[in-house]
Amino acid sequence: MLSIKKAAVIGAGTMGAQIAAHLANVGIPSLLLDIPSSDSKDRNQTTQTLWDRARALSPSPLYLPESAKLVRIGNIEDDLPAIRDADWILEAVVERFDVKQQLLPKIATHARPDALITTNTSGIGIGRLAAMLPAECRTRFFGSHFFNPPRAMRLLELISTNETDPLVLKEFSDFAEAVLGKGIAIAKDSPGFISNRIGFFAIMHAVHLALKEGFTVDETDAITGPALGRPRSATFRLCDVIGLDVMEHIGANLLENLPQDDGRPFFEQPKCMKEIRERGWLGEKKGQGFYKRTRVEGKSEILSLDCTTLEHRPRAKFEFESLTKIAKVKDTAERIRTLCAGNDRAAQFAWKHLSAVLCYSADHLNEVAHDVVSVDRVQRWGFNWELGPFQIWDALGVKETTARLEKEGRRVPEIVQKLLKTGSSFYREEAVPSYFHISGDYRALESSPKAIHLSKCREIQRNEGASLLDLGDGIACLEFHSKLNTLGPDQLGLLRDAKQQKFKGLVIGNQGSHYSAGANLGLFLKQAQEKKWGEMDAFLKLFQEATGSRTCAFPVVAACHHYTLGGGCETALGASWVVAAAETFMGLPEAKVGVIPAAGGTKEVLLRHLCHMESPDVLFDRVHRAWKLIFSAHVSTNGPEARKLGYLHPDLSHIVLNDDWLIGEAKAKTLELAGSYKPTPLIQDLPALGSAGIAKFDEMLEAMRKSDAITDHDVTIGKKLAYVLCGGEKAGTMSEQKVLDLEREAFLSLCGDPKTVARIQHMLDTGKPLRN
Ligand code: NAD
Repeated sequence: MLSIKKAAVIGAGTMGAQIAAHLANVGIPSLLLDIPSSDSKDRNQTTQTLWDRARALSPSPLYLPESAKLVRIGNIEDDLPAIRDADWILEAVVERFDVKQQLLPKIATHARPDALITTNTSGIGIGRLAAMLPAECRTRFFGSHFFNPPRAMRLLELISTNETDPLVLKEFSDFAEAVLGKGIAIAKDSPGFISNRIGFFAIMHAVHLALKEGFTVDETDAITGPALGRPRSATFRLCDVIGLDVMEHIGANLLENLPQDDGRPFFEQPKCMKEIRERGWLGEKKGQGFYKRTRVEGKSEILSLDCTTLEHRPRAKFEFESLTKIAKVKDTAERIRTLCAGNDRAAQFAWKHLSAVLCYSADHLNEVAHDVVSVDRVQRWGFNWELGPFQIWDALGVKETTARLEKEGRRVPEIVQKLLKTGSSFYREEAVPSYFHISGDYRALESSPKAIHLSKCREIQRNEGASLLDLGDGIACLEFHSKLNTLGPDQLGLLRDAKQQKFKGLVIGNQGSHYSAGANLGLFLKQAQEKKWGEMDAFLKLFQEATGSRTCAFPVVAACHHYTLGGGCETALGASWVVAAAETFMGLPEAKVGVIPAAGGTKEVLLRHLCHMESPDVLFDRVHRAWKLIFSAHVSTNGPEARKLGYLHPDLSHIVLNDDWLIGEAKAKTLELAGSYKPTPLIQDLPALGSAGIAKFDEMLEAMRKSDAITDHDVTIGKKLAYVLCGGEKAGTMSEQKVLDLEREAFLSLCGDPKTVARIQHMLDTGKPLRN
């Protein structure tokens, strides 16, 4: 694989600084340059200010603040020669041809002959920019179009010229997938590439159609959001996020470079959009655009624009039968199909808009991309659509959609007509999945061997909330599939049973939006309200059995991503190994709902803090640190931070940047562990502080209460937690099992407190913690 040991990023604005940060996230040092400041004493001041601004963003572009040391600041006049150390030089200066035109030859002068040079431009022709470079550099030059924010956005659009060496592009693509965790879409060097052509058309078409047909901003966003498998930001809110000035810039670029395009009427901003832009209502960055956040009677409220009067007004309620009907339809394809088949105003809008986007994508496919796969990837990874346009063609049915277009007297795109001669869908789900290629045949869909799709794995066992799947080679996977993957008897029962079967190893993981948001709180609430303590204790025992995986006969590896909270986190804490996505929000927020982790989580945090103790004198300090982590309910904002906080064991976990590879990596790790695996018996002699430790915690908690830092109920929770971590009253040693028993006891007793019941109820009702 391509080895990029050092990089240089030229331009430290919105994109450049954040890309440098992401490189630091993966351990690649970079030199970050911007224009020199006029202050002769500190020529790097401009770059420094820009870099500081990027670091202050929330969420931070850096996983860990200390990685900032990998970014060296400089300015383009004094430090350009230092780019000779870089294996990859990324140009991310202002989107102006003249500026890039002057800069690129200078970069070429100092770059090493084997260095890659790429540009982050979102609209300037890559071929035009390549022409600024000497011929010998052009084979190693291409577009690398990152999306904002580069840490989180999956898409990296790569654009080659006819002089780019395909091997270089492939090597870089592999590197970006594996090391930077990006999803790659290859675009042709056409105006706006794929994203700013197809993606932009999709937004602007909805804007124009809404205004023409008298749909409000809120109605349009309701129709073009999750109803169509797109994010909630839908259309108008997305314009606000991108910025109306940036939208204008993208449109102007397309208008200038596509003189004959049928999309032109949509590239221009409609009158109302132009007018609010000229008023400076550019969207989120200016606090107002199509939406405006204000405070009404002390409460934050979002107003939306009345596109006729150009005033922001409270959002009016509305109802569309078609939208109500699909509100609970989980399957995206079915949801879109049902909506488009409806006949109220919303359904008609959905069809008119979607059919236009599908036809535009199909008509211009050959101009923007080499295949449908890249177009779908751009919409999924760059715009967070659940299905790309060609997947939507398939979802609606290519034949059915063609018939509907014909019935309406509309032209059917050529590629679709061609497809219908040989097949009936753009994608084929066969033993070797394939897609319809522009040239008229089906080609195998290439995917990395690490990208395992759980939906394609054989099911061994299944219940309402979980499935046991066969990953091959003797490895099974326990997949949760409840809302937010919360855990109840279904998931835990199957997990416990899976561990009793004869596998080589087990992966706990899924490909939903989150690994698991934790235990099903509704269940605990019901048990507490009905005072079913025996039932609650039995459920907690099952939970502990399910999470405690190190005594299992084979290795159990958890593959975590996004929310890995509470009980979900505990399934990972008890595993032999954790493979975590870089975007993992891991923690034990139980205290916020008035309880303590009782599925082995308290014990596991304690174990992690007790290892490598240099002397018995540090015992209280270690126990205190474990206590603090649980009491503060601290949740990590990413995988590396989860490791720093202590949720991920440094020697028993690793972080994977590419989300698609998570299950594949977990399977590989499980196989590797299986080779020399031995179960670990429960420890019998953990050091216990006993009553002396408890007294210290009591004193500390009383002081915190006095200073009003915590509430009375916090004190109760803090004391219970300390009691468990100190092993109860008796000092000396304690077994792991004793800590587990104490966990359950504390949990049950806290659930008997009305204040805990109120906390749980409030969390279920509002999604927010109650401080009582
Ligand atoms: P920006 O305006 O935030 O930053 C551009 C930076 O370039 C500024 O800090 C400026 O001082 C610096 N600069 C100008 N001339 C320079 C020179 N000669 N040498 C060094 N630095 C110079 O812009 P941005 O949003 O970061 O965009 C950078 C590039 O990335 C553009 O090509 C843009 O089209 C592209 N892009 C932007 C986004 C986005 O969402 N902002 C997304 C994808 C791609």
